[in-house]
Amino acid sequence: MVEVIISGGGLVGGVMGIALAQAGLGVMIVDREKMVVLTDPANDGRTTAVNYVSKLLMESLGVWQEIEPYAEPIWHIKAFEGKSPWSIQFDHDQVGDHPMGYIVENAYLRQAIIRRAHQEPGLKWCDQTHIIESNPSSTGVVVTLSSGIQLTASLLIVAEGRTSPTREAVGIRVKQLPYHQKGIVFSLEHEKPHRGVAWEVFYPEGPLAFLPAISPAGNRSGIVWTLPEEEADRWFAKDNQAIEAYLASQFAFYGTLKLIGKRWIFPLTAQIASRFVDQKMALVGDAAHVCHYVAGQGVNLGWRDVAVLRDLIVNNKRLGLDIGSQTMLQTYQRQRRLDSYAMVGSTDLTVRLFSNRSSLLYFLRNAGMGVANQLSPVKSILMRYAMGLLDAPPMLMRKGAL
Ligand SMILES: Cc1cc2nc3c(=O)[nH]c(=O)nc-3n(C[C@H](O)[C@H](O)[C@H](O)COP(=O)(O)OP(=O)(O)OC[C@H]3O[C@@H](n4cnc5c(N)ncnc54)[C@H](O)[C@@H]3O)c2cc1C
Repeated sequence: MVEVIISGGGLVGGVMGIALAQAGLGVMIVDREKMVVLTDPANDGRTTAVNYVSKLLMESLGVWQEIEPYAEPIWHIKAFEGKSPWSIQFDHDQVGDHPMGYIVENAYLRQAIIRRAHQEPGLKWCDQTHIIESNPSSTGVVVTLSSGIQLTASLLIVAEGRTSPTREAVGIRVKQLPYHQKGIVFSLEHEKPHRGVAWEVFYPEGPLAFLPAISPAGNRSGIVWTLPEEEADRWFAKDNQAIEAYLASQFAFYGTLKLIGKRWIFPLTAQIASRFVDQKMALVGDAAHVCHYVAGQGVNLGWRDVAVLRDLIVNNKRLGLDIGSQTMLQTYQRQRRLDSYAMVGSTDLTVRLFSNRSSLLYFLRNAGMGVANQLSPVKSILMRYAMGLLDAPPMLMRKGAL
């Protein structure tokens, strides 16, 4: 019996499905893409910074074992601005004996999630189909798929990403924060090893990230290079040598650079939905909130939605209550709103503070970075926030919880 329908089997929807199926619920995931498209590395060359608590979530669900061979630990994070002498450095041993997070190629994440999903007896995955109509009532929601199939469930979870048609169909508005920037994504091999350091270099045009990627010699990094839209398009069209030479002139820590494989380009926006719920419906992941990639937090935020919603659904089911009730959905919205607004807002502020040429702001942010770097308690708070360490974490994000 299908109790929950999840529309969208991306990084967030897939994990939502596994979490509910492992809790004994009957789940169906529908995704408009073919399965092979979702797992093909040629379709998404991004890497994801998986933070510490998201790693705990993956461990609880039995997905981490598959991801671990492809995960490069982040031991240090260093951030500085252009040629400024001021910088801020975060070291893992300020908060514990484990890495702050891991860098994993999206293709490996997707493959591990989809493989695990197919091992769950209570989870059915329908690819190449989407919802054309959904009708909620007091007892549940009736969903009609493009394949013609009609299904009834207690709850519809929408994980369709930032342009979610199902969210739009029920009239949930989104507030957008445009950046007029694009992110160019590719991999580089470099002369010197990365030693587990994630770098964020701020330029007035936008941030440039060097993220440590897994490789036998530790000399590969995933790059996200943010530029104003037209400049990004211009650089995207140039040959590898021009990009390698330019980046080597901007970032001198790794010696010579060699671009490997394909390049991708993504428009960068932030947005937040005015509501995270509707009748018998909850939004998770990018369908609810999108933040600028600068802090590597988008999907981590989505996985926190998953862990919170899973606990609420499991509790309601255990107590014999409706798992699509308004009371439960309002609790979900209340619990997820502050975290989502804080993350979208803080990443937005960071991008706007650094992506400009004001000399007053240049002075203030560099002085701020220099002072903050000397204040261990401030750094410790920032690191715990980025690692997702919360006061009362949901069940699946606790160490050794299950
Ligand atoms: C350049 C860049 C770098 C990033 N780096 C990081 C990082 O380091 N760390 C981090 O945490 N986040 C990062 N992010 C953000 C992260 O990629 C997103 O937050 C994440 O992909 C959101 O996952 P999702 O499952 O909510 O949505 P999506 O990944 O968009 O998945 C949506 C799924 O729904 C399906 N779908 C869409 N419409 C329908 C429909 N109508 N019916 C059925 N299925 C549908 C799609 O096929 C897809 O499978 C980055 C983003 C960018 C652009």
